[in-house]
Amino acid sequence: MPVPLLDISRQHEPIRDLLRSAFDRALETSRFIKGPELEALEKEFADYCGTARAVGCASGTDALILSLMAVGVNPGDMVVTSPFTFFASAGSVVRAGGVPQFVDILPNTFNMDPELLRDWLQERCAVTSRGVVHRKTGSRVGAVMPVHLFGQVADMDGIMEVCDEWGLPVVEDACQSVGARWRDRRAGSFGAAGCFSFFPSKNLGALGDGGMVTTDDDALAARLVSLREHGGEGYIHREVGFNSRLDAIQAGFLRVKLACLDGWHEGRRRNAAFYDKAFRDIEEVRTPPIDGRAWSVYNQYTIRVEDRDGLLAHLRDRGIGCAVYYPLPLHLQQCFMDLGYGRGDLPAAEAAAGEVISIPVYGELTGDERSEVVEAVREFCSQ
Ligand SMILES: *Cc1c(COP(=O)(O)O)cnc(C)c1O
Repeated sequence: MPVPLLDISRQHEPIRDLLRSAFDRALETSRFIKGPELEALEKEFADYCGTARAVGCASGTDALILSLMAVGVNPGDMVVTSPFTFFASAGSVVRAGGVPQFVDILPNTFNMDPELLRDWLQERCAVTSRGVVHRKTGSRVGAVMPVHLFGQVADMDGIMEVCDEWGLPVVEDACQSVGARWRDRRAGSFGAAGCFSFFPSKNLGALGDGGMVTTDDDALAARLVSLREHGGEGYIHREVGFNSRLDAIQAGFLRVKLACLDGWHEGRRRNAAFYDKAFRDIEEVRTPPIDGRAWSVYNQYTIRVEDRDGLLAHLRDRGIGCAVYYPLPLHLQQCFMDLGYGRGDLPAAEAAAGEVISIPVYGELTGDERSEVVEAVREFCSQ
């Protein structure tokens, strides 16, 4: 029996009528862009994340670009982020005019190591009248972007402490971690801005593209609102922005799905706990460790095995959905070659890229399917 890596139709089946009425609402009101539906979602999403404001936009990538610009990243500024993440984390830095810089991850959680961030700043940077400046190049450091990978919030105690010391704004890439917690706070409520993606495969997915930025800062929210619509107020423009809005129809779908989100998280966490237990006696498999202060929403359940490519081929052979997130760390991507990184520079990210494999964890997975996944992994490991 094949087991898909993700089957969103199972999630939509029980809420089909609610989604249809959201569609009908849009059709009847003909308010397709912005309007009350988006405003309602922004309010509900901010409440959910525990922030004062939320500003919808066209994608998670745009949420990152808009946020970087809004917190004051100027052309040529450096932004420090993780090398082990989806491409958009660093791609957005370049699109905002900045220069990505990478500090390595903690080998267990896959997230930015706050001590390495501290070292990076101490060894390479100085505080000047222009702010934090990278000594060798003279570039300003404009922001730090931790990524909450696979549904687990990065060590925000450590990262916020370092960034507060240096006076650097934090833009959280929370695209994979809507609803995840660090201590008693949700992803997106720590930094100056939190960025979310509603790409269909995220824990909260639209029926298309969408994104959101959370913030406690009204002035920042106002800047985001302006930037998402050509950077103006009415027809008066002080800067050049984007056309990056969240459609009312997607907002309507997302309101339906946001109300279900905590239940879906529970399903994912149940499956993760099942795997944790089932793999305990398989020596070759390292299950994903969750920091004691974090509450993961398991956007991915990612194990590590030495012969990753062997397991990948074996599972594909058995019809078990699986994927490698991510096979090549960002500092080794061809498009970033001019940044001057090489193999061996960020060993934890490079090791992870060679060993990770994600398996199905969505809440609608059946007990039989879960067991089949475990059996297929066990079979490979006992060969
Ligand atoms: C999905 C994702 C993004 C980009 O989101 P889009 O909505 O696809 O633009 C950015 N960062 C991370 C970590 C992601 O997983």
